[in-house]
Amino acid sequence: MRIGVLALQGAFREHMLDLEALGASAVAVRLPSQLDDLRGLIIPGGESTAIAKLMRTYGFYDPIRLRHLDGMAVWGTCAGAILMADRIADARPDQEPLGLMRMLVRRNAFGRQVDSFEASLGFDGFESPFPGVFIRAPQIERIAEGVTVLARHAGQPVAARQGDLLATTFHPELTGDPRIHRYFLDHVVGAR
Ligand code: GLN
Repeated sequence: MRIGVLALQGAFREHMLDLEALGASAVAVRLPSQLDDLRGLIIPGGESTAIAKLMRTYGFYDPIRLRHLDGMAVWGTCAGAILMADRIADARPDQEPLGLMRMLVRRNAFGRQVDSFEASLGFDGFESPFPGVFIRAPQIERIAEGVTVLARHAGQPVAARQGDLLATTFHPELTGDPRIHRYFLDHVVGAR
């Protein structure tokens, strides 16, 4: 199964290693034409303003939206989750969201003192807690009908799903725990 990882900026290599370890074929996506034969795309964590700028420069916005309409699943981690939202709070003025998921995400929602932290998360369907690594994480502030919360921290959603779309505000690719990558491949890719 070919799964792309948007390789413009941020933690894309780690996602590729996790995908390969699970038997998927990971493609470093640097140009929109590479989206054509992918079953899924991961938008990694990093800096969402930089990723947005590069996505605009290389013309990724419409191709990602169109490929999603024809069945390419999308998973955004941290900065990637910000970009998947239909509304961003605290966005830079020129930072356009992809508008794939019906949710409002606030950038850098945790204050400086706690801007990075780890928390054990109960993830829907997992038998034991998942190690959540949060780095200048955003907050999913509101979700619309059709979006399901898969994990919460301090009562707030940190993982959410809408059909073949998945958003996590933490970094599963930095933990060595492959369960969310497996969940994406087994349950989100191909779902509608
Ligand atoms: N704070 C970053 C942003 O706004 C996201 C951080 C991350 O992806 N770890 O894009």
